[in-house]
Amino acid sequence: MNADLIIDQIEQIFPDAKCELIHDTPFQLLIAVVLSAQTTDASVNRVTPALFAQWPDSQSLMNADIHDVEQAIRTIGLYRTKAKNIVLLAKALHEQFDDQVPSTFKELQSLPGVGRKTANVVRSVAFDIPSFAVDTHVERVSKRLGLAKVEDDPLKVEEKLRRKVSRARWNQAHHDMIFFGRYFCMARNPKCNECPFADFCKKDKLVAYQQAKKEKQNKEANEKEG
Ligand code: SF4
Repeated sequence: MNADLIIDQIEQIFPDAKCELIHDTPFQLLIAVVLSAQTTDASVNRVTPALFAQWPDSQSLMNADIHDVEQAIRTIGLYRTKAKNIVLLAKALHEQFDDQVPSTFKELQSLPGVGRKTANVVRSVAFDIPSFAVDTHVERVSKRLGLAKVEDDPLKVEEKLRRKVSRARWNQAHHDMIFFGRYFCMARNPKCNECPFADFCKKDKLVAYQQAKKEKQNKEANEKEG
């Protein structure tokens, strides 16, 4: 099925998909996205209201005691590294960007803890620049729906989505696919019985590929040990 038609169908299921990370400013969005690496938006949203109440902007966060920041975010994964990164990030914003979140890819990616996915989310959500951030949901959904190959890395998935989905839809399509992956086509127990894409879904192919990859990695690890 054509990518735009797939997005149309997902929008029928989720007509109001949007960024679920709590934030009031581009700075708070940037911090929330950095904190969301390898953890859920829900767990980030549990810590950010208090975090932003205490340190709402780069000038306050750059002067925060790192141990206080660690305590404020200790319930999320990798909190020590993330605490260090967001304080350094606030400092870099103050010193290099006049306390303003930049909008170019190059500038965003120069900041501590900011990779391609984070830069794409910030450009899309804070600045409405057409972007296609590929997180775990977007990657899985793209592969199950045949919009990318099972062996594609996130960058390859992003390139394919940018080619196949109309540019004017990128920003919304990103949210649509996240909602579809988070609430319908979940990693475990997806709602296949109700799915409009079941006829051409590549879930089994993706599972077989992931299993074979894992077995190969285990075999290589065992050979190294032996
Ligand atoms: S059939 Fe199941 S796994 Fe495939 S896209 Fe639909 S919900 Fe996802």
